[in-house]
Amino acid sequence: MSTQLRALVTGVSRGIGRAIALRLAAQGYAVAGCYSSDSEAAAKTQAEVAAFGVPVYAAACDVADPAAVDEFVGAAEERLGPISCLVNNAGITRDSPLVLATEQDWQAVLSTNLTGTWNLCRAMTFRFMKRRAGVVVNMSSVAGVYGNAGQTAYAASKAGIVGLSRSLAKEVAGYGIRVNVVAPGFIETDMTDALAGQLRDQALSQIPLGRFGRPEEVAELVAFLCSDRAGYVTGQVFQVDGGITL
Ligand code: NAD
Repeated sequence: MSTQLRALVTGVSRGIGRAIALRLAAQGYAVAGCYSSDSEAAAKTQAEVAAFGVPVYAAACDVADPAAVDEFVGAAEERLGPISCLVNNAGITRDSPLVLATEQDWQAVLSTNLTGTWNLCRAMTFRFMKRRAGVVVNMSSVAGVYGNAGQTAYAASKAGIVGLSRSLAKEVAGYGIRVNVVAPGFIETDMTDALAGQLRDQALSQIPLGRFGRPEEVAELVAFLCSDRAGYVTGQVFQVDGGITL
């Protein structure tokens, strides 16, 4: 199995990030993954990735902290070799109507989701440019494309990711680097488990495919975008949302 493919995925301890790590490992990628604090869950993902026979490195790293990000990227490349593919998946929500929201919530969401993505892009892009190769996939949300009541901070952070990614795609295309965005709708993870019953039913009633998506269905699209099969695709936003935005 080739170990030339090496992915760095943020937020791998659970949910969509875990599914991406496993999907890429199944394809032969060595995987470096970070997470915020749940080392037990991360160790489980690490063992699941290793079971595919690929090298794996996992560590706690707050994506909002640029120094920690630089250290993590350096350690990942030291252990695994040059990263070929960056997946910015780590993200949080702090939902509430704007009039009830706190500045702390706003700062937390923007620093993790948007600044975190920027930190990782900045840490990796120069390395990719020197190698004249690299792929970036950034995780947005349909809320970032269409907006969602109760999610002003989250939607702003996810819309910011779209602008960041399209701009970066234009900046680095000449170096053979592709940058794309995946915007999921409702996916079955701990993030959506937090939805109260009534909200959940309301969301379900709006999804033409009649169900929430599975993390593996997002991971499938990410794996495609990371691969050479998507060699002519850059600067795009792909929704995987069961048709909720139709
Ligand atoms: P989740 O809450 O299940 O997992 C989030 C992961 O991010 C965890 O591994 C956590 O450790 C990590 N993380 C959080 N803050 C971090 C930080 N500061 N530094 C490093 N890691 C951090 O979430 P999920 O549902 O798997 O969502 C993954 C991504 O997909 C997020 O960006 C989310 O916004 C996006 N998304 C999710 C849905 C959904 O319905 N679940 C829909 C649209 C978009």
